[in-house]
Amino acid sequence: MSENAPTACSFCEISADRGEASVAARDELTVAFMDAYPVAPGHVLIVPRRHVRSLADLNPDEGTALWGMTQLMARRVKAKHAPAVNLHLSDGAEAEQDISHVHMHVVPRHSNDAVKIELPGTRATRDELDRVAASLAED
Ligand SMILES: [Zn+2]
Repeated sequence: MSENAPTACSFCEISADRGEASVAARDELTVAFMDAYPVAPGHVLIVPRRHVRSLADLNPDEGTALWGMTQLMARRVKAKHAPAVNLHLSDGAEAEQDISHVHMHVVPRHSNDAVKIELPGTRATRDELDRVAASLAED
């Protein structure tokens, strides 16, 4: 258990098979279970089994496993429940992360559904984009 494990994390309980959840799939490092407040049938969450608050705290094996399970669930949701999906992960309070245990949503999408994803961007100059790109090129 990591040093930032909370006293009661519902996703840790599910990962340890102690919580109430409808589990779709599991492997050594991740668990996929149905969101209790689905936007549509097939809305599934993928979590690392270890309590990890932020994406940056996942080790490389956990990151690979999280992405692999996400791809698997997205493929199955598209095959059985919806023609399209969005992936959604909130990392940090300002991003409205509601539970401090990394979780990826696979969100089923249908034409004319009620889901709204807005990225209110404004056109940047090439100089601005180049400057920000350079900042991300190294730690
Ligand atoms: Zn947890």
